[in-house]
Amino acid sequence: MSSRAQPCPCGGGDYGACCARYVEDGLPAPDAEKLMRSRYSAYVQGREDYLLATWHASTRPQPPLLQENTKWLGLEVRRHVPQGERALVEFVARYRIAGRGQRLHEASNFVREQGRWWYVDGSFPGAGKTHASQQQAASNEKPGTARNPAK
Ligand SMILES: [Zn+2]
Repeated sequence: MSSRAQPCPCGGGDYGACCARYVEDGLPAPDAEKLMRSRYSAYVQGREDYLLATWHASTRPQPPLLQENTKWLGLEVRRHVPQGERALVEFVARYRIAGRGQRLHEASNFVREQGRWWYVDGSFPGAGKTHASQQQAASNEKPGTARNPAK
């Protein structure tokens, strides 16, 4: 667990002044970008409870969500497009899994219901896969299996 005085995993300043307000204190994220950033920080810190709590009930997967050998390296938010009760956040997250560098480029869909923003699903610009199918593919993968990233 990160100290609040340390840099936030999402790159947005001190953890205490950034994603800790949502991940640790349970405040509702005021917009979809902040929710997306806090979910990234939750992935970094292995906070599956927070990921499930911010996932829309219609698309929420069954745990486990996290892969133990994933090391998250950084987040870059490319776009935040709010449209009333919906929003799109496009980002690139870099991580390493089983020693191999990977890049997740996702356009995530969020919806606001009951005064909170929720993660719904994502698409992959240039890859044409859903988040669920990519996670499925990743979880089926065995260590040491040669991987051929979709191009
Ligand atoms: Zn943050």
